[in-house]
Amino acid sequence: MIGNLTGGNPTDGKPMAGKIAPGKIAVVGLGPGEARFLTPQASAALEEAEALYGYMPYLERVPVREGQQRFASDNREELARAGAALAHAAAGARVAMVSGGDPGVFAMAAAVIEAIETGPAEWRALDLTIVPGITAMLAVAARAGAPLGHDFCAVSLSDNLKPWEVIETRLRLAAQAGFAMAFYNPVSKARPHQLDRAFDVLREELAGTVPVIFGRAVGRPDERMRLVPLANARGHMADMATCIIVGSPETRMVERPGLPALVYTPRRAGDA
Ligand code: SAH
Repeated sequence: MIGNLTGGNPTDGKPMAGKIAPGKIAVVGLGPGEARFLTPQASAALEEAEALYGYMPYLERVPVREGQQRFASDNREELARAGAALAHAAAGARVAMVSGGDPGVFAMAAAVIEAIETGPAEWRALDLTIVPGITAMLAVAARAGAPLGHDFCAVSLSDNLKPWEVIETRLRLAAQAGFAMAFYNPVSKARPHQLDRAFDVLREELAGTVPVIFGRAVGRPDERMRLVPLANARGHMADMATCIIVGSPETRMVERPGLPALVYTPRRAGDA
């Protein structure tokens, strides 16, 4: 039994007359960069929050509002940060937890729900809203054309939360299955050589001509896009702010005079 997926709260998040308002927590996606990528729903959630939680670089993107408290934390402390935000909401505050991109994609929404699953029963009664945002792979894809126009998958290349062997297996099977792929967390200082290893695995399964898109800091002033064939893709072409899209065997390039080529994956695959 899954329960009521439409929200569960008969008051639709608004306090019932005569009752004390419950605490609220919104997990808010900020999109990939500039304010124009923020949805109106996300702006409203940030405006009504009394307390903001999140990783410092994301909090810095939110305009300062008088009377709004801010609790910045380190990147690796996600569960502790989620617990602190939930405890604050349970004390009656309107709390917003911010995430880059979409909060449900390798980000805080899952950490908040994990904290609810394992935390005090009262956290389950909180008014929780997940506010979606434009995730990095969609921003990168839009810059390049339509590389995710047919079936695709998204993989975090970080081995913080899963063994590297699992990542290699997923890449190999995704390549064999004909998926285009988006890679998040492609490199970190602690693991400088893994991205090269990932490209080697892909080269064993795919033609060297498959396009690889490196989208760095997309939607920010220091944005940089780069397109290379898989044969030439190298780990040093990415940093932590890069999302990589590897085409499928069907992904094509459309050359244009004086303009960057369009990379797209046709809507049909095989004999369809
Ligand atoms: N929740 C985020 C992803 C968090 S994981 C989202 O939905 O986008 C962090 C990874 O996201 C980075 O290592 C990078 O791969 C990617 N990323 C985040 N912002 C990006 C941007 N503006 N341009 C390119 N990649 C980005």
